[in-house]
Amino acid sequence: MKIKYLWPLLIVLSGCMGSSKMDYDLEYSLGFVSGNRVHVKLVYHPLEADSVKFTYGEPMYGGQTDIIKGLNGLKVTGGKMNFNPSAREMSLYYRYGRAVIIEYDITDTHTTEMGTRGELFRPLIFDDYFYCHGINLFLNPLFRDKNIKATQSVSWEKLPAFSLFQAYDPGNDGTTVSTGKQADFKYKLITGAKDMTVEKIKVDGTENYLVLRISKDKELNTKEITGYFEKFYSAIRRFWKDTTTQSYSLILQPFLAVNHSISGMSFGSGFLGKYTYKADTILNPERIFVLSHEIGHHWFGGKIGAEDKDQWFEEGFNDYLTFYTLLMTGYMTPMEFEKKFNTVLRSYYSSNVRNQPNDSVWSNYWKMGDYNKLPYWRGSIFAFYLDNKIRLASKGDKCFHDLCLSILEFCKTKGEEYKFSEDDFIEIASLYVGKKSISDDISKYVIKGEQIKFTNEMLVPVFGVAYKGDIPVISVKDEKEAAKLFH
Ligand SMILES: [Zn+2]
Repeated sequence: MKIKYLWPLLIVLSGCMGSSKMDYDLEYSLGFVSGNRVHVKLVYHPLEADSVKFTYGEPMYGGQTDIIKGLNGLKVTGGKMNFNPSAREMSLYYRYGRAVIIEYDITDTHTTEMGTRGELFRPLIFDDYFYCHGINLFLNPLFRDKNIKATQSVSWEKLPAFSLFQAYDPGNDGTTVSTGKQADFKYKLITGAKDMTVEKIKVDGTENYLVLRISKDKELNTKEITGYFEKFYSAIRRFWKDTTTQSYSLILQPFLAVNHSISGMSFGSGFLGKYTYKADTILNPERIFVLSHEIGHHWFGGKIGAEDKDQWFEEGFNDYLTFYTLLMTGYMTPMEFEKKFNTVLRSYYSSNVRNQPNDSVWSNYWKMGDYNKLPYWRGSIFAFYLDNKIRLASKGDKCFHDLCLSILEFCKTKGEEYKFSEDDFIEIASLYVGKKSISDDISKYVIKGEQIKFTNEMLVPVFGVAYKGDIPVISVKDEKEAAKLFH
């Protein structure tokens, strides 16, 4: 009997609950709470009957297996939940058609001992500084129907005492609502600090954001970084014949307590780099290499997405692209290339893990050390080898650059979510070096993890190779001619 009266009441309630903002499936409102905490309130409008599973965090994102420790005080109104912290999972049960409110706090659980990864991949919440990735702030719904694309809105009910930069909505400092697809918020950074500056920079008709937190020599460092970004970003867009107008965000911050030159992560439409808190001059050759590599991920990783297991491609090819574009822009001389590339060869050919087959690389990736560097070494050496092979096969007419453009053209026809595969790679590269040749090379040097035995015949005449034991040593025989190869 009671049910009879309850039903209309429930309908009225659920109608009221969402009447003002029924437009988004997941509506977040955030509150910055003094004392290392952000309060999160999510109004969820169910997209599937009865239940949904949400996950929090991602252990493969920086190897943070205990990231769940930062989620506290989980509370559900208008439904029931079953929370399994060890699996980072919450099952939510509800009545279809009725909004559910989920509340929790995100706290700062990083420690100094966690080093670079703690400062890069965990939420950092201070009264004068905030840093958090979407994956560590928002819940991730796992719909039974994989075709469901949820929408999301995010607003700040209580802002910190400084303005924010939100990579999912770079023009919005937190004072207005951000809206979009749920997936678009996932790997985007939200950050802010009392000493953070946000500058808009125009490059070839694109509007980009330079987000800096510089404590030492502010004027000089800002000028140098701005100059580098304008020149390099314009050149790499030219390399890719990119005419899109999507904005790019370059975020640079000092580590709080880590004396490590630079580390960072790309998030498609931008990248975040953290440099040693001891740096006086932020741009040095090492950091220029890293910054340029990260900008390269706008294409390798962003516009050309490969499967996780194919880090040799996303990281290694991207590293060779970095060499290429730095040589192209004059940020690296051929002699500097010789020196740095020989370090890569030495590291790879003498590493204990050099023969790891490709399918075991990703599962060991966050063990760090050589495991973490292997795909960069293997992929960039393979790209150098292939670049030479293409140049020789085409008598200097084609090179790595043409291969990259062909790969991009191919991916454009496949849509945003497409994962570029080894078979696709073989298909496209075979246009330059023949199918049997590239299939064999991929199988030996990438999948099985054999080392390339470089000979002079494999290289264009400006390069030579000698051996120190089993380790190849590349030489640039003609600096002027070598520079001309990268255009
Ligand atoms: Zn990378």
